[in-house]
Amino acid sequence: MKAAVCEAFGKPLVLSDVPAPSIGPEEVLIRVKACGVCHSDLHLVDGDWKDWGTPLPIIPGHEVTGVVEKSGSAVTGLKPGDPVGVPWMQYACGQCAPCRSGAEMLCAGQKSTGVTVNGGYAERVKAPAAFTHRIPEGLDLVTAAPLLCAGITVFAPLRRAGNLAGKTVAVAGIGGLGHLALRMAAAMGARVVAILRGEGKSDLARQMGAREVVDTEKEKIGSRLSRMGGADLILLTGISAKLFEQCIPGLGPNGTLVVLAAIAESASLIPAGLITGQKAICGSVIGTRDDMDAMLRFAADHGIAPMVEHYPLDQVNEVLDRLRKGQVRLRAVLTP
Ligand SMILES: [Zn+2]
Ligand SMILES: [Zn+2]
Repeated sequence: MKAAVCEAFGKPLVLSDVPAPSIGPEEVLIRVKACGVCHSDLHLVDGDWKDWGTPLPIIPGHEVTGVVEKSGSAVTGLKPGDPVGVPWMQYACGQCAPCRSGAEMLCAGQKSTGVTVNGGYAERVKAPAAFTHRIPEGLDLVTAAPLLCAGITVFAPLRRAGNLAGKTVAVAGIGGLGHLALRMAAAMGARVVAILRGEGKSDLARQMGAREVVDTEKEKIGSRLSRMGGADLILLTGISAKLFEQCIPGLGPNGTLVVLAAIAESASLIPAGLITGQKAICGSVIGTRDDMDAMLRFAADHGIAPMVEHYPLDQVNEVLDRLRKGQVRLRAVLTP
């Protein structure tokens, strides 16, 4: 089968012909329809995470959709022809403290698609049936691919926040994650605010459900959100320490800032500012399998499809380069 293989960090992926994976009794073999290109893939390929123990060579890609081609002898829930998705998490031990507490996405023994085991930049991928998700009717398999990472990343903290009807939810950074966050928060009944820089995406943000748009080139996030009573929830999807700093004063009483972007530079804040108003800052990483199934149903029911740019798998290196240069508008999807 054709696959884009990372043979060495910091080098272009190599398009090669590799054997299709053989499956165990509890696994399924999937014919890949599409694989989204996540910013994490860039970190992996560029070697930013080389200390994570990624075995080389590896096939990247963790936003995979496709159709079951073959299911192992012990698999009961999935059969050939079923539309499915394979996300980042494809194994959690079920025994450790996070797993037992219902937070399996924090499992230290986790296996990650395209990071520690082969992913979806290929014609076929295998995954344990227990961590393979059925894609509901109504979702197009190609455009749905980014839901498997970008979608769950924004849905899980929205879901965890509880009933958002009438609450003020701000989304900072409108890209692959942010545009989905706007759609989902709006569909949950929140009063949605988009925080972006420049005019480029303000129309798009409104189309995605933002009632208010804050342009950080023109006004301060804190003062604008404070005039609205402060945000109950801010999802930070933009990779910028400055954006992180600027969001904090926008939190309302009991407001929470959720960091979803892998900001690797330091930021400053005055901790005392969190006391009055009991403000919280936290991180969030993907979600549980239950979150994933709920998100896929929610997206199908509300007609939420990621906006994607399509590329053939052969162009993977060009796509990664576009992502590196910030030229991918929202999300790129590879089709083998
Ligand atoms: Zn991702
Ligand atoms: Zn575990």
